Amino acid sequence: MYHDRYAARAFSMKESAVRALFAVANRPEVVSLAGGMPNIADLPLDIVGDAVRDMIQSAAGPRALQYGSGQGEQMLREQICEVMAEEGIRAHPDDVTVTVGSQQGLDLLTKIFCDPGDVILAEAPSYVGALSTFSSYQAEVVHVEMDDHGLVPERLREAVVTLAAQGKRVKFLYTIPNYSNPSGITQTLERRKAILEVAKETGLLIVEDNPYGLLDLEGGRLPAIRSMEHEQVIYLGSFSKTFSPGIRVGWVLAPHAVREKLVLAQEAATLSPPTFSQYVVSTYLRVHDWRQQITVFRDMYRERRDAMLAALPDYMPVGTTWTHPLGGFFVWLTLPEGIDSQAMLPRAVTNRVAYTPGTAFYADGLGARNIRLSYCYPTPERIREGVRRLGEVLNRESQL
Ligand code: PMP
Repeated sequence: MYHDRYAARAFSMKESAVRALFAVANRPEVVSLAGGMPNIADLPLDIVGDAVRDMIQSAAGPRALQYGSGQGEQMLREQICEVMAEEGIRAHPDDVTVTVGSQQGLDLLTKIFCDPGDVILAEAPSYVGALSTFSSYQAEVVHVEMDDHGLVPERLREAVVTLAAQGKRVKFLYTIPNYSNPSGITQTLERRKAILEVAKETGLLIVEDNPYGLLDLEGGRLPAIRSMEHEQVIYLGSFSKTFSPGIRVGWVLAPHAVREKLVLAQEAATLSPPTFSQYVVSTYLRVHDWRQQITVFRDMYRERRDAMLAALPDYMPVGTTWTHPLGGFFVWLTLPEGIDSQAMLPRAVTNRVAYTPGTAFYADGLGARNIRLSYCYPTPERIREGVRRLGEVLNRESQL
C-alpha cells in the first residue's frame, strides 16, 4: 500500500546491515567497541542542573521555552565563535547557523547543494552518518584515497579532473581532517595546505567536518582548514563530543551566501533549532570552565586510547595493522588477508565483543578487511578485555 507511493529517495535510505546485531551488542556481557558514544560521566551534572534551573527561572526562561530564530540564538552564536577561536578560526556570529547536531548541518548542506546524481567527493573511509545523508539525497559519493597523513591531494586533483571530463557535477569535498571517524587519522598541516591548493585551483568547495578537533590527545593541535580560507570552506562543529550529544546542538560556519540558504533550509526543516537546548549550551559555556572540562575529557580519552593501543599488540594475530590516533575516539584495523569483518561480526558477538565492520564506512563496498574500534566508552579494563576477546575470534578465524 505504501511502497508504490514512496519517493525515489526513500529507497536510497537503507537500514544498516549491522543494526540488528548492535541490539545484541548492547547487552552488558558484550564489550562494545562498536558505537562512538562520548563518555559524559565526568560532566558536573550538579553545576549544569543548578545553572539550567536558574536560567529557566530568570528573564531568559520564557525565551528559552519559546520558538527562536531560524539561524539560532545570537548569544550562543557569539560563544560558538569563541569555541572556534580555540582552533584558530576567526569568524563572525552572523556567519554561524545553529543546527540539530552537526548531523543536521550535513543534511541541510546536502539538501541545498545536491540534486540526484551530483557527486560528493569523500575521503575513504568516511563517516557512516555522512554517507547515509548523502545517499538519502541520491548524491553519488566518489571516494578519494587517504594514507597515514590524510587525504592524498594528488588523488583529489585526479578525481576532480576525471569527473569534470565525464561531465559530472562535483558539489563538494567532504573531509574530517582531525582524528577522522572512522580511521583516527589526522591530516598533516602540509596536506591541509595542499588540499586547499587543489580546491582553489579547481574551484572545489570543501566541507570540513570537525567534531573531534578539541579532543587532541598529544597536544600540537593543527589549524582548521577554515582558519586558512573562508570563501571556499564550509565548517561543521558540534557540542556532542565536548559537552553533550543528547542536547543535539551543532553548527555550520559558512560564507554569507551559503548561510542565507542554510537559514531558509533550517526554517523549512525545523522553524528554529531547539531554543531550550541552545540556552542550556549557552548557560553551560557561561557558568562552567569548559576549557578545563575539555582537558578532563582529553585525559580520560587518552587513558582509554592508550589502553587500546597497549592491548592490540598483545592480542592481534600476525598481519594485523592499526592506526595510532592523536585524538578523537577511533582506531582503524586492517586484518590479515582472507578475513571478512562483516561475516565475522556474529561470531565476535557470540564471543562477547562488538566492533563496526569497515564496509559501513565506504559507499562502494570496500572495507571488508577493516574494522573500526572505539575506545571512547568502555573503561580501560573493559577495552583490554574486549581486545582480548577480539583477538580470540580473529585467531580462530585465521585458522578457518
Ligand atoms: N561528523 C562526524 C565525523 C561524527 O563522527 C559525528 C558523530 N558521530 C557527526 C558528524 C554528527 O555528530 P552530531 O550530530 O552529534 O553533532
